[in-house]
Amino acid sequence: MSKKLVQIGMDDIDNPDGRCTTHFASIIVERLKEWTVEWVDYPNLIRLNPNIPYRTRGNGAVALRFLIDHYDVDSIIPTVEGLIHDYVEGEYPNTNPGVVLFDDEVPKQVQSLSRLALWRVVPIELARRIIRTNNIPHYTSGNGRGLIGALSAVANTLHEDHTYEYIAYRALEDCEDKRGVDTVSVQSMDKTMGNRVFSNVDISTNRIMIEPHGKDPVLFGVRGEAAEYVIEAANLVKSKQDRDRWMVFRSNQGTGEHLKHRVEIRNLRPYMTAIVAGRVESKPRMIEGGHSIFTIKDDKDKIDCAAYEPSGEFRNIVMKLKVGDLVNVHAGVRPASRRHSLTLNLEGLEVVELANISEVSNPICAQCGKRMKSAGRGKGYKCTKCGHRDKDVRKIETSLVRDLLTGLHLPPAKAQRHLTRPLARIGKVNGGMPSSLVSKWHSH
Ligand code: ATP
Repeated sequence: MSKKLVQIGMDDIDNPDGRCTTHFASIIVERLKEWTVEWVDYPNLIRLNPNIPYRTRGNGAVALRFLIDHYDVDSIIPTVEGLIHDYVEGEYPNTNPGVVLFDDEVPKQVQSLSRLALWRVVPIELARRIIRTNNIPHYTSGNGRGLIGALSAVANTLHEDHTYEYIAYRALEDCEDKRGVDTVSVQSMDKTMGNRVFSNVDISTNRIMIEPHGKDPVLFGVRGEAAEYVIEAANLVKSKQDRDRWMVFRSNQGTGEHLKHRVEIRNLRPYMTAIVAGRVESKPRMIEGGHSIFTIKDDKDKIDCAAYEPSGEFRNIVMKLKVGDLVNVHAGVRPASRRHSLTLNLEGLEVVELANISEVSNPICAQCGKRMKSAGRGKGYKCTKCGHRDKDVRKIETSLVRDLLTGLHLPPAKAQRHLTRPLARIGKVNGGMPSSLVSKWHSH
């Protein structure tokens, strides 16, 4: 029997009261067992531009890739549509589900849209036009915004680098209550697993980061370098609430895939994610609320940069910058408002070159070692202690020793974006598609 490779993308299948696209994806995976499906990849959890305003949480979309008997392909979209209706109860103004299906190659236009969605704001009209011109089977409701994430997820095959996340879900009827993830079990899991997992505990505070705090069905999520590792790690985690289901995702989390573009200040636009190179133009200052602000300048223009209070000790690094330092700012662009101009919200700071800062002081007395005073214009210096005078000595210039290192500085893990490449992953690359899947990668 001939099988077809089918790829489905989906996004925005959530509501603020406890639904989420990845959870919905796990329900479809379960449902697909009714057909003879051969999985060629783990479900992909693709994070998109973290700075767009419409996201509910971490701007994640999902792609599923599998082989299926060719005559079943036409029934997939209607089945998914029915499942969405059952899943997203009621009408929420911010829920605009989108699902797309490919049973052939993903067109080049979709691939470009997918790359754009990692760092820019993509207009809905562009997604709709691509769907029309390429005749892409789809389902959408509301304003159709979910189609952007759906297309972007399918076209991203994570060939440069990827990581994994095991997501455990609680039952929907448990979503009002506390999850009760056991801190000690997570800390000890993190120690046992070492660098096979990442971003599960914030080392600066020892706080656990795998437990969300909203009313969504995610009980916890463990991130790591391979499917086997996240499964092993998750089995070491204890929680008060039960796991109702679980699934392993392949993901661009922790890869820094959104931060590939260097943009000049004059080309920055609201909500863009970009690397901006410049020299520090103003001394950093701490403003009310505990945010630290400084200005950078490139060849032509200036822009304010901000590290906010939740970024904790990262602000202390920022405060050590001096006028003239050369930096690459990793940032999201915050639009201008009545109170401030376009601003770069710092996601990371790469110090490229430290300015040579020197202090100038009066010479030391050759007789008694005390600092001298000017004896008047053109008259050299005199010592107020021993009275020694010297017409030929000059002011002393000393280079300031800087207590700031060149290289990349990041906020603590708790303040990092899902996509941020944490320091623990610098130099790590998991390229290509997995050649086979572990035998059990979801609960149903
Ligand atoms: P959840 O974690 O529950 O899936 P979320 O944080 O991913 O929530 P969504 O509710 O999915 O947020 O909303 C994000 C919306 O923004 C989606 O409709 C998605 O298609 C759209 N979107 C994502 N990236 C971009 C982009 N770069 N430009 C424009 N729209 C985008």
